[in-house]
Amino acid sequence: MKTLYRKFIIATLLILGISIVIAFILANWVYMTSTRERIDSQNVKVAEEVASSLEQMHSTTHISFTGYLDSISKLGYQLYVLSESGEEFFFGEPFSKKNLPAEAIKVVEDKEIYHGMDNSNSPWMMMSHFSNQLDNTVGVPFTIGDEDYGLYLRPNNKLLFSDVHVIFAWFFVAVSIVSISGVIWFAKHLIQPITKLTEATRQITRENFNYPLDIHRKDEIGQLAESFSRMQVQLQHNDDARKSFINNVSHDFQSPLMNIQGYAELLKTQTLDDEHLEYVEIIDQESKRLSNLTKQLLLLTSLDQKSYPMKRGITRIDMQIKETVRRHQWRLEEKEIEISYHLPPSPILADPELLMTVWDNLLTNGIKYNQPGGSIFIQITGNDESATVIIKDTGIGMNKEQASKIFERFYRVDAARKKDGTGLGLSIVKHIIELHNGKIEVESEIHNGTTFTITLPTEKQMEE
Ligand code: ADP
Repeated sequence: MKTLYRKFIIATLLILGISIVIAFILANWVYMTSTRERIDSQNVKVAEEVASSLEQMHSTTHISFTGYLDSISKLGYQLYVLSESGEEFFFGEPFSKKNLPAEAIKVVEDKEIYHGMDNSNSPWMMMSHFSNQLDNTVGVPFTIGDEDYGLYLRPNNKLLFSDVHVIFAWFFVAVSIVSISGVIWFAKHLIQPITKLTEATRQITRENFNYPLDIHRKDEIGQLAESFSRMQVQLQHNDDARKSFINNVSHDFQSPLMNIQGYAELLKTQTLDDEHLEYVEIIDQESKRLSNLTKQLLLLTSLDQKSYPMKRGITRIDMQIKETVRRHQWRLEEKEIEISYHLPPSPILADPELLMTVWDNLLTNGIKYNQPGGSIFIQITGNDESATVIIKDTGIGMNKEQASKIFERFYRVDAARKKDGTGLGLSIVKHIIELHNGKIEVESEIHNGTTFTITLPTEKQMEE
């Protein structure tokens, strides 16, 4: 994943790179349009000064101009003298290439001025100014005695890079380092609260509305954090209100439902005609379903409390599962479902009552959604760290989309067909497994059956 932080840094470096390229193109353009010509004429002027001094010396020997040009070279120039008769003299730093174009020879032959520094065709244009070649010079003619000469000159690169340039180069490097570090720091500073907000949002989906934001800023992100905190408080308030409403209503429903069930049971013992008996059956079934629903709602809301009082103890899940199977024996027989299991002793540290609810729900479903004459297989495997329970049935199964929703509250694949369901059983199961730091997964194929895999940490891991 490309983080915002990384994007920010990449964008900054990219902007820096692009600005360097644009600045280079601009500087090149300025160099090509004005600087190059100015530098060339400045150098021509220097060369002419040197040439006229040489002529004023009226010397006929080379020795005199050799000494003078040597001292000029020490001032920071590279010099080359070509005589009419083809004699060559070099002064100062040696040139990297020593060939002159025909145009440059005209200085000696036709006494023309050579503008080698003004007509370079290098693609790096501006950089060619620093090329240490003989053709990158200015040339002026001079005469000593009867002999015509050409004086070719260019400033030594060391002279071009004066102390000021070195200081400017360091200045540029320092500015780049400081600004890049600044951008990195600023990006971190900017992204940090966003990361916190993202985590807070994630926590909200897990119904934790108290994730501390700790963002104290006056800018837009600060405002966002403030609104977010307000939203957290409001959500917490709504959630509390919802839970207490469900709690109260469920409690209030319980006693009238018990009464209805009691009277229905009583009516069933009376001599009633078939039609009335059917009505009483329906009243009995529906009140049981409602009673079951309110019980499940009460359990869910109490599990929802952040500090649910878990009563952990060494729990033999193998024995719990065997006990659950025993309790459902009559239903299994009724539906002619064959059950087989492999349950080696598996003690884990858990809340036995809650886990019993898990096995009960899963086995009830395995029976309820099975085909008559189907089968259920239960197995426990495990190691030192975790115990894995697999409950596999050959029931009606579900498609992928349905299977992905079964842990949602009130979700039922086929609500119309199965009247005795509430859609809460599996969400309770998941909640309990998560309270034990475990996980539950489902695999299902329509008409082929369903497999639930529950992994629970064993006692050792829980104690750590
Ligand atoms: P319910 O009270 O409806 O059984 P659950 O939360 O236990 O609620 O299950 C949710 C839905 O998941 C059920 O309505 C059912 O459609 C589907 N389901 C659960 N277990 C199985 C299973 N073993 N085989 C097929 N479908 C199942």
